[in-house]
Amino acid sequence: MLSKLNVTVKKMRNMILTALCALLLLGGNAQQSQAGRHPTGCLPGIIKQRLAEVRKKFGPVTIISTMRRGARISGTGRRSKHADCRAVDFKVKNKMKAWRWLNKNHNGGVGLYHGRCSHIHIDNGHRARWNRNYCG
Ligand SMILES: [Zn+2]
Repeated sequence: MLSKLNVTVKKMRNMILTALCALLLLGGNAQQSQAGRHPTGCLPGIIKQRLAEVRKKFGPVTIISTMRRGARISGTGRRSKHADCRAVDFKVKNKMKAWRWLNKNHNGGVGLYHGRCSHIHIDNGHRARWNRNYCG
């Protein structure tokens, strides 16, 4: 009986240790990925330039996403510009003003997302404009 209990205690201890190790590993990775989570170095010059212009005109920009390996355009399944680090999603306080300015001044893709996403997307692809109520 006692040995059975010991085995159970040992098993539980091992499970807890495994869980703790997993948490530590995940924590480490999360910290690591935080630093290089949204690499901007790979973005095309024109996109970096637009981001700098938006910052200057409309204030601080929070980068939501740049490179997303294997990213597909939701609904179409086509390869996203994010898969090749040719697009950036960002938030800026004056979202509507920034979007209108980009519509006039950026000759690639300009997308506006509302609701849960609530960000602006720009890429260096063909001239395209969209305004959506869902994440993409
Ligand atoms: Zn995007």
